[in-house]
Amino acid sequence: MATSYLCPQDGTRADVSSLTWCCPVCRGPWDLDFEIAGPVRAGALPGRVNSLWRYEEVLPLAAPATTLGEGRTPLVPLTGTVSAKLDFLMPTLSFKDRGAVMLAELARCLSPARVVADSSGNAGTAVAAYCARAGLPCTVYVPEGTSPKKTEQIRAHGARLEIVPGDREATALAARAAADAPGTFYASHVFNPYFLHGTKTYVYELWEDLGGRLPDAIAVPVGNGTLLLGAALAISELRDQGLIDARPALIAVQAEAVSPLAHAFRAGADDLLDSPAGPLSPTLAEGIAIPRPPRAPAILAAVRESGGTFLTVTEDQIRDAQLDLAARGFYVETTGVACWAAVGGWKDRSVVVPLCGAGLKTGLAA
Ligand SMILES: [Zn+2]
Repeated sequence: MATSYLCPQDGTRADVSSLTWCCPVCRGPWDLDFEIAGPVRAGALPGRVNSLWRYEEVLPLAAPATTLGEGRTPLVPLTGTVSAKLDFLMPTLSFKDRGAVMLAELARCLSPARVVADSSGNAGTAVAAYCARAGLPCTVYVPEGTSPKKTEQIRAHGARLEIVPGDREATALAARAAADAPGTFYASHVFNPYFLHGTKTYVYELWEDLGGRLPDAIAVPVGNGTLLLGAALAISELRDQGLIDARPALIAVQAEAVSPLAHAFRAGADDLLDSPAGPLSPTLAEGIAIPRPPRAPAILAAVRESGGTFLTVTEDQIRDAQLDLAARGFYVETTGVACWAAVGGWKDRSVVVPLCGAGLKTGLAA
């Protein structure tokens, strides 16, 4: 069957060559109805390109002209049971490159008049870089107060920068209004499911590097859930192909200051709670400060099905974790240290944490 967009709420479909960025019935995000070509065979991998494109059987796009060599980041032990995957070593210094390359490659194939994106920073820098590589005109919307290092990076890639007054939600609304203009490709890491088929390579790399198995648990910082949902996709595919026996627990980490998903999970809910859990306060973990993630039902279901849980971390824990990782040789941005803050002390189970953005993007919080 041909690959198409599919709404998980009401079954509406759209062709992937259309620029329809959300379900026209419920305005929700698309899933991708896509059948993988076959299992990734470990024996076939050594001769292949040393980037995430080596997992060609399971990717919805092939032979990309927009690649910057993304993926294949190192896995390094931190303690006897906790290992770190160094996704801050990506071309734009964050894990978002895994998904941004998919969006830019899809956009290149569709030749839109313009590309728009919105971001708290890292997705915007990634989309700007990959659009530059693809030769596509790009506008990135960011909230006021975004780290100057990130806005500088976006401008350097030649993208137009729109700084939106108000919070992250106001920025998303501004970008979505622009995305409705004819001829516009909305490179949304939240709404476009190709992004998740890029982030799923994070787990394929773990599987390859651990010799065809996965750790007991995979910890992921969660705002819009793009890495978590990609990880869940890969785990399902590996299970369906008989390539893993046990399913790792997904440990979703939020900042206590902005933790709508953790509250819903603890209440046993299958979507966000109607009433906010309390006033939202600013957090150092700006990359996961998302009050109303559109894919909340899928995130909650994925964590439950994995046998995992939600953990929250305080601002003090984030500060301490950043210093602690730096003392071990890793300079990581504040969002990217949240998982180490949450599970760094685990001794009874093997767990992998992503160090997902470079420290120079935000500087030192302490
Ligand atoms: Zn729908």
